[in-house]
Amino acid sequence: MAKSIIIIGGGIAGLAAGCYAQMNGYRSHIFELHDIPGGLCTAWERKEYIIDGCIHYLFGSGTGQPFNQVWQELGAVQNRPMIDHDRFMTIIDENGRSFIVYADPDQLEAHMKSLSPADARLSGAFANGIRQFMQFDMALLQKKPRRLMNPADWLEFGRKIVPYGLPMARWGLISARDFADKFQDPLLRRAFPLMFGWQDIPVMVGMSVLAYMATGNAGFPTGGSLAFVQAIEKRYLDLGGEIHYKAQVEKILVENDRAVGVRLYNDEIHRADIIISAADGRGTLLDMLGEEFLKTRTRKLYDGHLPVHSQLLVSFGVNRDMSAEPHWTTYLLEQPLLIAGEERTAVGVKHYCFDPTLAPAGKSVIEIMMESTQGYWQRIYGRRLYDTEQSQVAGILLDFLETRYPGIRADVEVKDVATPLSYERYTGNWLGSTCGWLLTDKTMLMMVKGMKKTLPGLDNFYMAGQWVEPGGSVPIVAMSGRNVLQLICHRDGKAFVTSVP
Ligand SMILES: Cc1cc2nc3c(=O)[nH]c(=O)nc-3n(C[C@H](O)[C@H](O)[C@H](O)COP(=O)(O)OP(=O)(O)OC[C@H]3O[C@@H](n4cnc5c(N)ncnc54)[C@H](O)[C@@H]3O)c2cc1C
Repeated sequence: MAKSIIIIGGGIAGLAAGCYAQMNGYRSHIFELHDIPGGLCTAWERKEYIIDGCIHYLFGSGTGQPFNQVWQELGAVQNRPMIDHDRFMTIIDENGRSFIVYADPDQLEAHMKSLSPADARLSGAFANGIRQFMQFDMALLQKKPRRLMNPADWLEFGRKIVPYGLPMARWGLISARDFADKFQDPLLRRAFPLMFGWQDIPVMVGMSVLAYMATGNAGFPTGGSLAFVQAIEKRYLDLGGEIHYKAQVEKILVENDRAVGVRLYNDEIHRADIIISAADGRGTLLDMLGEEFLKTRTRKLYDGHLPVHSQLLVSFGVNRDMSAEPHWTTYLLEQPLLIAGEERTAVGVKHYCFDPTLAPAGKSVIEIMMESTQGYWQRIYGRRLYDTEQSQVAGILLDFLETRYPGIRADVEVKDVATPLSYERYTGNWLGSTCGWLLTDKTMLMMVKGMKKTLPGLDNFYMAGQWVEPGGSVPIVAMSGRNVLQLICHRDGKAFVTSVP
């Protein structure tokens, strides 16, 4: 009889693990605490508007390009037009000077040089970096778990990675913040740390985003993040998998140093031959397993010294067509705004008019994202202050929008505020982290070296997802679920097989 697998968590990693389990002849069940799939890869409806809470760019959106195969196998990209942007972002300073971050490196280089001839050498180096990463297969490290790579695999890996050794060393260990300091032009100096989500992001990551945009491999899936995930859920169900929603796992059951099942919060017990946790790492190790199998090195990961990224997402549904505006504009401010306890010197405004499925014709969804710590919101949670602070934040940002898009206040039909506590509540992620461990110049090596997906001393147990793949991201966690099934098949002496629907 086929072996059974329980998967904790129906985010991208859990769904991917489930699909590959079914493809390889296992009987799998996913237990998900929420009532919909996707975890962080999600969207929510507010009146007629769909607020997309995740994908800005999907690596693997281009047919035949790196990561596309995994999306084909998961049934996520078939019949799903991808929207490719020719510019990543526009950054405007208080004097109206704009820096347009073009996806095309030639156009970007020319634009940067015209903005600041004094920085021509640096701009050229940045554009060259993007060109170098255009052919780089970032899925290389994820094709097989490192433990299963044989000498021939390592040889092939080495052959493919060697040409990128120097660019990786040069751009992987410098943060956007440090790189920005090298520019003379004040707009470029201020723009670079804001471009790619967080200031300490390695420049290589930002370059890779632009490189994949340039090759048509970092598009936005029409329908948005939830529709994308629902296609994977369908694939899983079509393969015969079973999902249990509103089913939060409280404990992983262990007998004789083997994981044997799970107990839900409603006290139901489910047993299986293999348990995979694709849920929050800290919750898995400290709560569900109860620290017993936590070695000092793993415990240290969760002592707070490593960076995580949590955020505030403020969205508006507006009765106004924003499609003539650039889809993502970051405004640099003369006077900082105090928002959620921190002074903000820039506000990024994104609209989703490029995907007509997300708002009715002539209307738009506007989103503003900013870093915010879970601790700030936790301190005021439970008092009336939490709700007051949420509406105050929305009010400040609406005042700001009014200065850039006059009259917009009257067009607002929907306001929505998601804090790090919302992320924590809906997905269980520690500190409301949006990507597990934040990828910085400090954690880059951790990502390259890879993290273990098993625990010493505990048999039949595996972990997948963003807490064992520093930096997270949807393609990497999908590969993580795939990798775990490769490990399980190897252990069971079976060839790992895949199929494409
Ligand atoms: C705003 C935002 C923008 C992003 N933009 C991008 C982007 O443009 N491109 C990109 O590639 N990535 C992006 N990411 C990152 C990406 O979404 C995540 O790294 C990825 O989705 C994580 O998937 P996961 O399956 O590992 O974890 P999760 O999505 O956290 O899934 C874990 C699942 O486990 C469930 N769970 C937790 N505890 C339990 C329990 N005890 N019992 C049962 N179920 C449980 C949760 O409900 C959840 O569904 C973004 C993330 C955010 C938040």
